[in-house]
Order: sequence, then C-alpha cells, then structure tokens
Amino acid sequence: MKTASASVPMIDAFKDGKYALPALPYDYKALEPVYEERTVRIHHTKHHSSYVKGLNDTLEKLNAARIAGDFGGIKALSRDLAFYGSGHILHCLFWHSMKPGGSKVPDVIAKQLDVDFGSAEAAKSQFAAAAKAVEASGWAILAYEPFAGKIIILQCEKHQNLTIWGIYPLLVCDVWEHAYYLQYANDRSGWVDNFMNIASWDFAASQFDLAKKINIGI
Ligand code: MN
Repeated sequence: MKTASASVPMIDAFKDGKYALPALPYDYKALEPVYEERTVRIHHTKHHSSYVKGLNDTLEKLNAARIAGDFGGIKALSRDLAFYGSGHILHCLFWHSMKPGGSKVPDVIAKQLDVDFGSAEAAKSQFAAAAKAVEASGWAILAYEPFAGKIIILQCEKHQNLTIWGIYPLLVCDVWEHAYYLQYANDRSGWVDNFMNIASWDFAASQFDLAKKINIGI
C-alpha cells in the first residue's frame, strides 16, 4: 500500500514484490500502560504476520490457478484475498492510529470534523460508540468519503465483509478479541476508552491531507 508521507512513512508493508510485516512505528513498550508490551508483541508478530503470510500464499494460489486455467477455487481464493488483504492493510493503519501519549486533533482535520460531526469531540464520541458496538469481530474506521468530500465513521464487521469501495481510512481501532483480550479480558469498552487516549490524530490529519488529493473524476 502507498500512504507514505514525510511525517508518517508507511514503509515496508510491501517490498521485493511481496507483502511484508512492517516494523512498528514505536517500541513494543511505548504504548504502556494503555497497551501492554506482551499484547502488542503477540498482536504484531503473530496475528498481523499471519495476515501477511495468508495474503502472499493466496496470491501464489491465484497465480497457479491462472497458469493452470483452473478457476474452480476462485470463490474461496477471492474471499481469502479480501480477508488477508484487509487484515494486513487495516493492521498497518492500526499501528499508526496510536501514538505514545496520544495527540490533540490538528486544525487541518478539526475543521472538517466540525463540519461533518458538529465538533471533534462529537466525532470522538461517535467513534468510540461505534467501536464498542461492533458485533463480534471487527473495526471502527474513521474514513474519507471522496464522492461527497466528507469524513465518515464506519463499523466493519469481520473485515472481509461490508467494505465500502472508495473510502479512505484515516484512523482505525481494532476490536477483534485478539487485540485486547490478554490485557482487558472482556472489557472492550475499557480498551476503546483507553485507545481514544493514545489515538494519533496527527496520523488521521496526515491521512486526511493525502485523501483530499484523490480525484474521483466522475
Ligand atoms: Mn488485530
């Protein structure tokens, strides 16, 4: 994926022709006490890396299917591509969606949040409420919807489903159980409330700046 900018490089998510597990933009301990080292390390090196492996494996299988001219497994492979691909991209965004110590909402995005939600605080409240209410596994996603030029908040249940093509994610909160269960057990609400305290609105603002340059052209 390409979301590189000077301040938040999204490096190494794809290199040498394959998807790859990028290093975290901070130390494994850097988000403590909100997000403990053990949970972050397992989340990154086990869960995120399994999406990377699954994505590369699926692309190899699709390549083999094309060479063989046999698309008998296309339904399952397409589903795997969406599952592992969304998992990899959303986790890349998720790591950048947190920042040691958190951040204030920069003016560049605060003004748009005022327009679309009434205030940045109202947008934060809606984001946290959406994260807490995701049914089973999924994500809360702050995103840019380029057809209307608006910022919206979506729930994503099981990230292979319910995708809206064309949105541009700005900030994401992982509420799959593996993201918080080691540290928060069944207290998803506590995880989300604390996530909001380390949310990187600097990242959201820089993503927003990039997203506005998208030209839909229809
Ligand atoms: Mn996760």
